Amino acid sequence: MNVQETMASPLVWHPQTPAEAWLMKQTYGTEAVYISGGTLLRTHWESGTAAMPKHLIDLSAIKGLNEIRVGEAGLQIGGQMSLQACRTNDFLKRHFPMVTEAIRLIAAPSIRQLATIGGNVASLIGDSLPALLGYDAEVIWFNGTAEQRILLADWLRLANDPSQRTERLLLGIQLPFNELTETVGDEAGIDQVVISKIKRFCAYHKVGRREAFTPSVVTVAINGALSDSGIVNEIRIALGGGQMIPLRHEDLEKEIIGKSVDTPLLQHVYNRIFQLYEPREDLFASAAYRKQTAANLIVTELWKAAKNET
Ligand SMILES: Cc1cc2nc3c(=O)[nH]c(=O)nc-3n(C[C@H](O)[C@H](O)[C@H](O)COP(=O)(O)OP(=O)(O)OC[C@H]3O[C@@H](n4cnc5c(N)ncnc54)[C@H](O)[C@@H]3O)c2cc1C
Repeated sequence: MNVQETMASPLVWHPQTPAEAWLMKQTYGTEAVYISGGTLLRTHWESGTAAMPKHLIDLSAIKGLNEIRVGEAGLQIGGQMSLQACRTNDFLKRHFPMVTEAIRLIAAPSIRQLATIGGNVASLIGDSLPALLGYDAEVIWFNGTAEQRILLADWLRLANDPSQRTERLLLGIQLPFNELTETVGDEAGIDQVVISKIKRFCAYHKVGRREAFTPSVVTVAINGALSDSGIVNEIRIALGGGQMIPLRHEDLEKEIIGKSVDTPLLQHVYNRIFQLYEPREDLFASAAYRKQTAANLIVTELWKAAKNET
């Protein structure tokens, strides 16, 4: 790739609807890319890891994608919402604090003004992804004629398999409201659904090579609930970091649900994260270091929840 190819000026298109944007992408194919804030794409062009495409499809003029909507089922975040706007949204902070925390730790204020949540998610490696996985988020995308939804966990699993990877026009993210209920038997043997005294806990951590303004080495999110007696009722664990596509670890979650948080369980979780988490290593951090970090963080959060220290 020569310098001229890398920096040649592209044609910038400003579609007004998802259908127009989608059609432009179909028309220009690999010669076009969708662009939101452009903060990640710029790093690729400037470092020479990708050439400037002939066509940029700027998604910022599409109506309805720059807002947060609260519905009965949950919160819908438009893909064009800037990270800064997400970070300062009170409703998001109150109900989905891991997302706010993840965004707080992305880049720096000036970048968060431009960067969007849609670009972070569509990049497949954004640091918001484990937090969103921790809330069982769905992605909303446009298939050429209509909106479609898919669990973020499934979308990332497909993206992890190069033969299944397709470029999709992302419209937004849906975060569901989850009420935790527990079924218990009463004296007459009839099942009742009662809201029990459940202790919810959640934590998001990003470990980098310095305290702030750092790319991630490891990211973890854990969201769960313990019963009165310390049994795990619900748990979601997501791990990412660096250049890997974050994943939710549902097999591990199933192994934990219904168990008491004791030393054997914590040891089991620690060992299983070593097996399941497959971070990419680079010159700065080995895979073993990343595995150990992720395992320590998850085990610590489980232990803190059990000891009432969250
Ligand atoms: C100095 C610096 C520090 C950074 N630090 C971090 C960090 O700590 N953590 C982190 O996660 N990121 C970081 N980033 C990367 C980037 O800023 C964020 O990931 C940001 O959220 C990307 O959003 P964007 O709108 O700028 O995406 P863009 O650059 O516009 O797009 C990113 C990718 O997503 C695609 N895309 C964008 N929108 C859509 C859509 N709606 N549908 C389909 N595809 C789409 C684009 O084609 C491109 O492939 C950093 C960047 C810089 C320059």
